[in-house]
Amino acid sequence: MRIVVLAGGIGGARFLRGLKKAAPEAEITVIGNTADDIHLFGLKVCPDLDTVMYTLGGGINEEQGWGRSEETFRVKEELAAYGVGPDWFGLGDRDFATHIVRTQMLGAGFPLSAVTEALCDRWQPGVRLIPMTDDRVETHVAVELDGERRAVHFQEYWVRLRASKPALAVVPVGAEQAKPAPGVLEALAEADVVLLPPSNPVVSVGTILAVPGIREAVAGAAAPVVGLSPIVGDAPVRGMADKVLAAVGVESSAAAVAEHYGHRGAAAPQGDTEGPEKAGLLDGWLVDTVDAGLVERVESAGIRCRAVPLLMSDLDATARMATEALALAEEVRG
Ligand code: GDP
Ligand code: CA
Repeated sequence: MRIVVLAGGIGGARFLRGLKKAAPEAEITVIGNTADDIHLFGLKVCPDLDTVMYTLGGGINEEQGWGRSEETFRVKEELAAYGVGPDWFGLGDRDFATHIVRTQMLGAGFPLSAVTEALCDRWQPGVRLIPMTDDRVETHVAVELDGERRAVHFQEYWVRLRASKPALAVVPVGAEQAKPAPGVLEALAEADVVLLPPSNPVVSVGTILAVPGIREAVAGAAAPVVGLSPIVGDAPVRGMADKVLAAVGVESSAAAVAEHYGHRGAAAPQGDTEGPEKAGLLDGWLVDTVDAGLVERVESAGIRCRAVPLLMSDLDATARMATEALALAEEVRG
């Protein structure tokens, strides 16, 4: 079975670990978000690709969910001693090596997709990890700072400002001109199942879908498309996804996120007021058991919906989520 997953960082990576356990024989292709990428100290940093690679390859800091295990911060301290910032982005010594290798290969002319493949040679994540695009895309967030509207890099909004100010707009700069990386559209066309993990619907999955061609390929895939809600109750399980959902006019609930993705076959998902009409994506949607009351609302939008436990508290619980998602995919395949 060929499974394609559109993944952000922590939520995507943890789900993938469960999926690998639930479907050990499956051929899994991960289309990774690169709109979080940032240039720091002359290096190209790809936080979401690395989170997936380290998590599946056994190199992740488990408690934190990102960055390397057994990390030290000597380089960062030395940079600070030179007064060279930013100091708000945590790059450890082991992690630095990844960014150095990546930047060196990009400088030698390799596209990001080839570089990612080379990095994965070491980590053996057990999935095929492809960046959404080889082109540069950077999410910017419009915020009001000192009475003025300003656009800041997503990482500055998320990590430095801790999403403490309302996001007025979220713009994946460069996405419109970007092309899907080699293999992305082919993987979607050949998939048996497409899964949207509990990743951030705006700044992880949303930015992947913003690359022209990808949303259309998901909507047009022969395979069933099933998603899992990152919102449990009225809040994201982890992080601040509600802040960026508000920016696109979507309430923080499992049902609203499903409506935002939209039902396959439907023209325009709700919550999006800007841009051309977009194709709906979902055949099926999983909400947590605490949100069982929302099942009817999601189904009335034409999306098959089930309420199952959606907390990735350990590997077994996560594998059960993946099993439920695959079962729902079979059900909607009809
Ligand atoms: P990021 O790039 O590191 O922010 O990670 P993702 O975009 O892949 O995932 C972030 C989302 O994962 C957040 O919106 C969380 O609500 C969601 N998330 C994290 N842990 C869980 C969990 O155990 N269950 C569910 N359903 N969602 C989760
Ligand atoms: Ca991310």
